[in-house]
Amino acid sequence: MPQKTKNTPMMEQYLAIKEQYQDAFLFYRLGDFYEMFYEDAINASQLLELTLTSRNRNADDPIPMCGIPHHAAQGYIDTLIEKGYKVAICEQVEDPKTTKGMVKREVVQLITPGTVMNSKGLESKDNNYLTAVVEADGHFGLAYVDLSTGELKTAVLNDEDGLINEASALQTKEMVLGSDLSESLQETLKNRLNVIFSEQKEAEENAEFNFLTSELTEALEIEATGKLLTYLTATQKRSLAHIQKAVEYQPDHFLKMDHYSKFNLELTQSIRTGLKKGTLLWLLDETKTAMGGRLLKQWLDRPLIQEKLIQARQKMVQSLLNAYFERVDLQATLTKVYDLERLAGRVAFGNVNGRDLIQLKTSLEQVPLVRELIVGINQGEWNDLLLDLNPAEDIVELIDQAINEEAPLAITEGNVIKDNYNAKLDEYRDAMRHGKQWLAELEAKERQETGIKTLKVGFNRVFGYYIEVTKSNLANLAEGKYERKQTLANAERFITPELKEMETLILEAEEKSVDLEYQLFLEVREKVKANIERLQKLAKTISAVDVLQAFATVSERYQYVRPTLKSNSKDLHIVEGRHPVVEKVLGHQEYIPNSVHMNKENIILLITGPNMSGKSTYMRQLALTVVMAQIGCFVPAESAELPIFDQIFTRIGASDDLIAGQSTFMVEMMEANQALRHATPNSLILFDELGRGTATYDGMALAQAIIEYIHREVKAKTLFSTHYHELTVLDENLSGLKNVHVGAVEKNGEVVFLHKMMDGPADKSYGIHVAKIAGLPSPLLERAATILSALESEEQPAKTVEYKDEIKEDTEQLSLFKEVSTDEISVIDTLKKMNLLEMTPMDALNKL
Ligand code: ADP
Repeated sequence: MPQKTKNTPMMEQYLAIKEQYQDAFLFYRLGDFYEMFYEDAINASQLLELTLTSRNRNADDPIPMCGIPHHAAQGYIDTLIEKGYKVAICEQVEDPKTTKGMVKREVVQLITPGTVMNSKGLESKDNNYLTAVVEADGHFGLAYVDLSTGELKTAVLNDEDGLINEASALQTKEMVLGSDLSESLQETLKNRLNVIFSEQKEAEENAEFNFLTSELTEALEIEATGKLLTYLTATQKRSLAHIQKAVEYQPDHFLKMDHYSKFNLELTQSIRTGLKKGTLLWLLDETKTAMGGRLLKQWLDRPLIQEKLIQARQKMVQSLLNAYFERVDLQATLTKVYDLERLAGRVAFGNVNGRDLIQLKTSLEQVPLVRELIVGINQGEWNDLLLDLNPAEDIVELIDQAINEEAPLAITEGNVIKDNYNAKLDEYRDAMRHGKQWLAELEAKERQETGIKTLKVGFNRVFGYYIEVTKSNLANLAEGKYERKQTLANAERFITPELKEMETLILEAEEKSVDLEYQLFLEVREKVKANIERLQKLAKTISAVDVLQAFATVSERYQYVRPTLKSNSKDLHIVEGRHPVVEKVLGHQEYIPNSVHMNKENIILLITGPNMSGKSTYMRQLALTVVMAQIGCFVPAESAELPIFDQIFTRIGASDDLIAGQSTFMVEMMEANQALRHATPNSLILFDELGRGTATYDGMALAQAIIEYIHREVKAKTLFSTHYHELTVLDENLSGLKNVHVGAVEKNGEVVFLHKMMDGPADKSYGIHVAKIAGLPSPLLERAATILSALESEEQPAKTVEYKDEIKEDTEQLSLFKEVSTDEISVIDTLKKMNLLEMTPMDALNKL
């Protein structure tokens, strides 16, 4: 850091401001540039590929510096924010012309990843959430806001898992903390979410905050929301008028899925690419508006659990399905609706221009059409929604009268306000137009009087209006009348008293009209702003219409059926169900449908079958069907009767990569643990090949113990796939367990998977055939076949082994393995007594 004594007053000012914004890049306004100094300059020059210079190059300790033209700043800000940094915008807050000495400067906004409003990085179909978290006695208050839409919600989470699940569902990029979160929790959050932390120690109170939190009841929610709002005001330094009253929500009023499950099921994010393609969201997203797209994602994150609410959505989808032509019209109309929600947000935030208001108008003009279409098909199911689907005709009219259809981007340079909106403005404009006419006449008159055909009346910014005469014609000008203003290479420019007078009039009118236009624009904006709540409600309603039409569109296109859903029912019957995404990718013809039947008596399906035969597809198919049903969409099946599930837990393959530095097996066990601890008889558990991440005995022992535990204690509906054939005998003792397997046939010595589920255990392992297809040496395959048939006939494996020791070992291992399984009863007894949740895999192995 520099020696204080040497600093110029400007650097003193810079350092004092920088002191308060140490964790941000300080964009310090100097004339037409934002300058950065010291570390900021060094880092920014690398991140933004800017040239690093220095301020006092010849001094002993030059100050590193780099700059950005202020009009090009947005792109650079976006880049820094996308990389997870914060940017403090420091402007001159006094007019340099009227101040003596140092111009006062202040940070006018702190832009952070959680508070960007109009970055190009802001995906239109994604929300951008800023969250705040507070803790008391192991409970957490969580509040989140999307600054661009004004959505503000809060909840209490009862443990760390709950907090992590919520925060990851929100994909929050920035989290505001006091100092009350433990280091280890912060570490976990950082690893899981790629989040940056900001600090806000105290929650302030003021009338606005009190208003926004007035409907909250829980102290933790009020505190979290207060901190969030305090942070917002501190960073944004402007109106938060568009922030909606905080709404409290209960995470347990929705179908719960922990973050592993959401991830595994690829609801909104593909496991391999992290992108939307290939996910359920991708399949369902036939929304026509950006806000509809965002709402769909929210619905997918929080499927419903209340029968009435689900049925209400189903009925609306049904009515849209019944009305093909209206639906097509509705889609065409929705296509013309811009992002009302974000437009409203920007109106309140104060950064809309004339074009935005025109977009707002165009959007609002569609509302009567949407309403008419809905009213036309309504048979009662749309009543609630119609209450909030009110055209804001007064706003349309206001914008229509005031704002020019072709308004420019700038709001300070005129041409924004229409003629006939304001009498004074019309007067100025008249003067300007009149003046221009007068100038044309003056030109004609001067030409005639002087006889100079090339005489011109013109204008430039420096000299104003002038009469221009080429040098060769100068002699024709009358003495005394023309005053010389400017000399060019081959012409002279003059002014006359008459022209001077007109110039003053025109320029004055121009200046005044621009000022007036700006004032009028602000007035219009304020009037629109007064209607924010209405606009937000309308935006929400249109979004819902959009998502429902997407459901109808998808349901029709892929021939989905309306599922029957019942709370507290134990019956699950999906006839000829399909995996919606795999079906879309493969094509309807290629996909082999499969049924799922479970009831009070049958709660566990143990699925056996060779690799790649479709076990995990079958399991995912069920989970996706449940999610689709509980968001109100129709489902891919011939018919479907479903209970309403409270939670879904999954451990499904393909996420075998190391997550946050933990081993595959550890992840597997953590996911299993979540399910075993939290599942209820109304939950759905999907375990795919559980236990394969560890040694065979270890894995098999755990698998069996887990199945028994679910059967006895948890009683959740469970699909469990395994390649431990030994487990298929469990049905003898566990009455609620049923074996199913994936059928396969052999054709000319090759295996053909039918992808068809059948009752009973798989009777033969097709592993050897798969190995053959994979091209393993044929002596090896023959040997494997011998071993297999020995095992199957419960004989000792053939003694003579001519191959390498490795194979011998394998054989021995396999025979040992078989011995264990022949003594199943005592094994089962021992396993039953094990307290699985307290055991390490090593304990389990030792026990065995
Ligand atoms: P497993 O879990 O048994 O190893 P997967 O469920 O991963 O097998 O399925 C393997 C592949 O088989 C899938 O990628 C899919 O292309 C195909 N498949 C699975 N189920 C079906 C089905 N019902 N109809 C058509 N193809 C299927």
